[in-house]
Amino acid sequence: MSNLHNPTGTLLNDEDIVSFLEKVPSYVKVVLDEAYIEFLEKDPLDSLKIYKEFSNVIILRTLSKAYGLVGVRVGYGIARSSIIDEFKFVIGPFDLNSYAQNLAVRVIKEKSM
Ligand SMILES: *Cc1c(COP(=O)(O)O)cnc(C)c1O
Repeated sequence: MSNLHNPTGTLLNDEDIVSFLEKVPSYVKVVLDEAYIEFLEKDPLDSLKIYKEFSNVIILRTLSKAYGLVGVRVGYGIARSSIIDEFKFVIGPFDLNSYAQNLAVRVIKEKSM
């Protein structure tokens, strides 16, 4: 579920997302794709609260858009360790190189100053 949605720009609120998650069986993983969340003037979402309530939720964010690192493809995710363990087998070929990691740390530090 992409929120803000690309390319329509529609935004689901917390109640919409919770209502959806209540209908999804807990063994089904649900990704909250928040690639454009930094473009909201005020963050109306509390996805961490939703994440704490629903153990099948994975939150994904990227530095490609708001941080201008589209060519570097750096992002981060928040999920239960049991879910992360299921994805560890793909880390080898898709792991970030040291250039991407250092660039990510640098832009995050610059934005937070
Ligand atoms: C850009 C984008 C991403 C992530 O892009 P990466 O460059 O792979 O980090 C994810 N979801 C949506 C909807 C996007 O527009």
